[in-house]
Amino acid sequence: MDSENYAVIIIGSGMGGLGTGLTLQNHNPKLKTIILEQHSIPGGYVNGFKRKGYYFDSGAEGLVFCGEGQAFRMVLDKFGVDQEYILIDPVETMQFPSKKITMHANGEKYKLELIKNFPNEEDEIRKFFKVIESIQEEFYSVVKGKFDPSFKELLKIIFTCPTLRKYTTKSFDDLLTKFISNIELRDILSVYSLWLGVSPKKIKATLAAVVFFSPYYQGHYYPKGGMLAFANNLAKAYVTNGGEIRYKTKVKKIIIENGKAVGVQLGDKSVLKGNWIVSNSDIQRTTFDLIGEEHLSKKYIDYISSLEKSVTGFSVFLGLDIHLDNYPSHIAYNIKSESYLERIAKGNYSPEEVLIRIPEKIDPSLRNDKGSSLTFLTFAPYNLDKNWGTNEEKDQKEHYIKIKEKYTERLIQIAEKVIPDLSKHIVYKDAATPLTFERYTLNSQGAWYGIKKGQRRPKQKTPIKKLLLAGGNTQGAGVPSCFFSGIKAGEIILKKLKKK
Ligand SMILES: Cc1cc2nc3c(=O)[nH]c(=O)nc-3n(C[C@H](O)[C@H](O)[C@H](O)COP(=O)(O)OP(=O)(O)OC[C@H]3O[C@@H](n4cnc5c(N)ncnc54)[C@H](O)[C@@H]3O)c2cc1C
Repeated sequence: MDSENYAVIIIGSGMGGLGTGLTLQNHNPKLKTIILEQHSIPGGYVNGFKRKGYYFDSGAEGLVFCGEGQAFRMVLDKFGVDQEYILIDPVETMQFPSKKITMHANGEKYKLELIKNFPNEEDEIRKFFKVIESIQEEFYSVVKGKFDPSFKELLKIIFTCPTLRKYTTKSFDDLLTKFISNIELRDILSVYSLWLGVSPKKIKATLAAVVFFSPYYQGHYYPKGGMLAFANNLAKAYVTNGGEIRYKTKVKKIIIENGKAVGVQLGDKSVLKGNWIVSNSDIQRTTFDLIGEEHLSKKYIDYISSLEKSVTGFSVFLGLDIHLDNYPSHIAYNIKSESYLERIAKGNYSPEEVLIRIPEKIDPSLRNDKGSSLTFLTFAPYNLDKNWGTNEEKDQKEHYIKIKEKYTERLIQIAEKVIPDLSKHIVYKDAATPLTFERYTLNSQGAWYGIKKGQRRPKQKTPIKKLLLAGGNTQGAGVPSCFFSGIKAGEIILKKLKKK
């Protein structure tokens, strides 16, 4: 079979893969690049699906830095991504058995809401937010319209930003404990640390101030049409700029000759040749399945083998015969960050909390006349009950279905504390286990956020010449972060092409 030749072959159409593709095609629409995607649709974890008229986001559910003039939005606009963004307000409603806190998409309003609920802690709250606001102001005065600071900007931060400088070596937990004595309040303030599945002890105070508090100051956005539309619009812009995407096309091997990546082999044994290969696939799969240990040093293999995966989770998707008009779009029920993470880390899944999302409450275009769709999200261990029953000696499928049903019913029960009689109105029901997340994106262990935070991340340049990484493997998780890692991979290639 004749092989086809490409300037760049990108494995995977997650945010990293699309970021690389868009960077290259935007620079030169004549460049011959291709994205190979094993799934039938683009986006990886940025995705959604429709069943019986009900729309559900299957992974990511919001975008930071997508307001007018903000870093992510500016590059998306530059790349010709035709997308409308809707402000999510309130960002979240945190509901506890005896309390409800509205997290407004407005720093001042949010602060007042916290003071209303914790009047004895007013002074502490004000002092805490003063530090958050100072860090944000100082950061944006140096880093404008970009995602992360350059080396020069880092130096400027060190010399001209006193609050940022003071907190650079501190953890988010240090910042919380310094100012906030009430544990319940600390839990509420650290909810977005939980959302990355990481304890505030493992998060830098400055990162928390700039990123986790950005929804209240810079807004949290939802793409009109849902995450499915967003991923499709990115793919459309890439193709409009001259790129090619092949779906249902799984890369089996990266072909390596004399330490250099020269192409890929597909499932049907056909070969595509490429001057550059960018892998947006999971780091363990890239290393062990696509490259192969025989091409790598023991040191690199040991390093990749030592990397721990981030949390994964269990989601439930429901279609109702009523509309939930009196509920906000984002509800966090009974979330107590530290204890939640500790239970999951011990491999224990006995949910007492749930995140509830109602997409039509943000974007009315997603409304189904029959009733509301809602999604529940929780963290869950990958290795629960012999890997969700699939490692049982027999009847694996039956075991899997039974476990899935058990936890679906458990989450419905918990959600009924927020939406009474919910179970009487369900006309469509499905769920995703960690194995579902793994199957659809090929992320090992269904990890939601790539590798666990706090470990040294693999660099974008691999030990194999002309093979780069993009996505949650390298820069870290989150839609903008993965997309910007893709941009960086594209820029490395463009720089080399310019030199020629
Ligand atoms: C439930 C959930 C909620 C989240 N919520 C948010 C949120 O609200 N905001 C936010 O910013 N982030 C959120 N995230 C995180 C964010 O979605 C991810 O960090 C990001 O989308 C990962 O992008 P990636 O580039 O690493 O690619 P991935 O999403 O991992 O995609 C990789 C792609 O490569 C393809 N692929 C892999 N191997 C091959 C192969 N061999 N051949 C062909 N194709 C291959 C896969 O099919 C997939 O499409 C959430 C994640 C999850 C799971």
